[in-house]
Amino acid sequence: MNDWKCKKCGYELKAQKPPEECPSCKKKCEFMDISCYTPDCAATGKDTRIK
Ligand SMILES: [Zn+2]
Repeated sequence: MNDWKCKKCGYELKAQKPPEECPSCKKKCEFMDISCYTPDCAATGKDTRIK
């Protein structure tokens, strides 16, 4: 599972792949992979440095 964040509204969700349509915007938004891959953000599971 990865963490995804909508570039437009900041909506976050966990999924294998980002959705075609953002549940919040109801549009085909671009999703960023904000999954944590380093130990420093293991507590949250999300990389908050990615904006
Ligand atoms: Zn959105």
